[in-house]
Amino acid sequence: DMSNAIVAQDEMGRPFIIVKDQGSKKRTHGTEAVKSHILAARQVASILKTSLGPRGLDKILISPDGEINITNDGATIMSQMELSNEIAKLLVELSKSQDDEIGDGTTGVVVLTSALLDQALELIEKGIHPIKIAHGFEKACKIALEQLDKIADTVSIDLENLENNTKPESELFKAAKTSLGSKIVSKCHDQFARMAVETVLNVADLERKDVDFELIRVEGKLGGSLEDSKVINGVIIDKDFSHPQMPKKVENAKIAILTCPFEPPKPKTKHKLEVSTVEEFKKLQTYEQDKFKEMIHWVKQSGANMVVCQWGFDDEANHLLLSNELPAVRWVGGTEIETIAMATNGRIVPRFEDLTESKLGHAGKVTELEFGTTRDHMLVIEDCDNPRAVTALIRGSSKMIVDESIRALHDSLCVVRNLIKDSRIVYGGGSAEISCSLRVMEEADKQKGIDQYAFRSFSQALDVIPMSLAENSGLDPIETLTQLKADHVLKQNSKLGVDCLGNNNNDMKELFVIETLIGKRQQLLLATQLTRMILKINDVIISGKDQY
Ligand code: ADP
Repeated sequence: DMSNAIVAQDEMGRPFIIVKDQGSKKRTHGTEAVKSHILAARQVASILKTSLGPRGLDKILISPDGEINITNDGATIMSQMELSNEIAKLLVELSKSQDDEIGDGTTGVVVLTSALLDQALELIEKGIHPIKIAHGFEKACKIALEQLDKIADTVSIDLENLENNTKPESELFKAAKTSLGSKIVSKCHDQFARMAVETVLNVADLERKDVDFELIRVEGKLGGSLEDSKVINGVIIDKDFSHPQMPKKVENAKIAILTCPFEPPKPKTKHKLEVSTVEEFKKLQTYEQDKFKEMIHWVKQSGANMVVCQWGFDDEANHLLLSNELPAVRWVGGTEIETIAMATNGRIVPRFEDLTESKLGHAGKVTELEFGTTRDHMLVIEDCDNPRAVTALIRGSSKMIVDESIRALHDSLCVVRNLIKDSRIVYGGGSAEISCSLRVMEEADKQKGIDQYAFRSFSQALDVIPMSLAENSGLDPIETLTQLKADHVLKQNSKLGVDCLGNNNNDMKELFVIETLIGKRQQLLLATQLTRMILKINDVIISGKDQY
């Protein structure tokens, strides 16, 4: 194919051919392609592996503009890695989808995928075709999932007396607490666990076993200490009342929620408005004042005793609001306006004329919180008409602590939500993986042909989870795994896992180290799916621009 070649002559008149450089168009093919993907994935996973588990190491992430973030949250680490490799990017997507759907197990899913890929690589090297491996893995995964169902337990939730679930002996509380395990908030575990349970139960529809996360807001506010974090029955907005003389507290608030600006419409004149004489100026002023008064009148006649406004307003309007005893908040963002309306059962009103009593939002009290050290203000809208609106306010002395605590609480909220949806659990510390690994290995012998190999490899990939947990806790990985496997069989106990925290106890049920069944299932499914996808890719063409 000469289409990108040009014939030219040198100084001596000798012809030669210039071929367009295709150096920037990379192409790998066949098994070589699969192998190179696996090696790329391995790099990502090797970073994440060391953060798995309660003794996992934190990572310092430095963003391009120098911002520093310390975390051991898999999804966060992944999202901040600057990856150029396409397959590594797929792993990031993978951990995101585990995060979106389950909210937990984001590190584990990547470690497991990479272990499956490592195993696949060995099989490829033995000459087994990637598609066959993928197929065998899928079958093995099915068996592992069945085993999970078999070993699953159920967490009891007290539906009669919801408050009991926030007590330290309650299983829901313990589950929430476990999920905070390796995060930065360790000194506030009990408090955060209680917050998570309280928040979720507040919005949960226990009959339909549904939790609407939309109703939950998590707000971080710099300053104070983690212990000052709390759950508020209502919404918080990062604003204050528009005038310092307005009261700091409105009881029994009837709120006009406005998206129309508090300013008079420009007088409708055909020509450009010219104010050249004192007369004209006065006329304009009267016009504006009349308009303001009209607006205040509309608000007053609706029965409102407080105003929330999407737009700003000038000093004059502000003063009128003050003198008419209408505490007001200005420049409230669109999503916040919606949240306020939702929480107070109010309607968003786009025109003053449309204001009626039935459109007002209702809240037991609205208070302006002052944060001593920072002179910052926040408005707390509490005891709202819609009792299910709830906000967790996270305080912390640095942005990093606030961010990491928000993530920790998020994980915990997810676990509680997942348990409300489906209260089945499996035990952690790698015990579920060991149990599945043993089961798949048992089945391997019954398989014909290639599947035998694939099953054994799948089983060994599962072992990587307990081995990593052991390694991160300073234990000998192989010794720990062998002992645990023997005990699973001898003692017929599927709840034995890695004693990461040195409790001298391997029974994860006794230690209450749990993982939700849906979370664990999702990890196995996603890891197997992505592995299959990568194994089936046999051609990657990254197109670059042609160069001469
Ligand atoms: P992920 O992002 O995947 O949730 P984590 O770093 O939170 O990763 O680690 C989760 C793993 O640590 C799970 O396998 C879980 O069972 C295990 N684990 C958590 N707490 C303990 C504990 N106290 N003892 C043993 N294993 C634990």
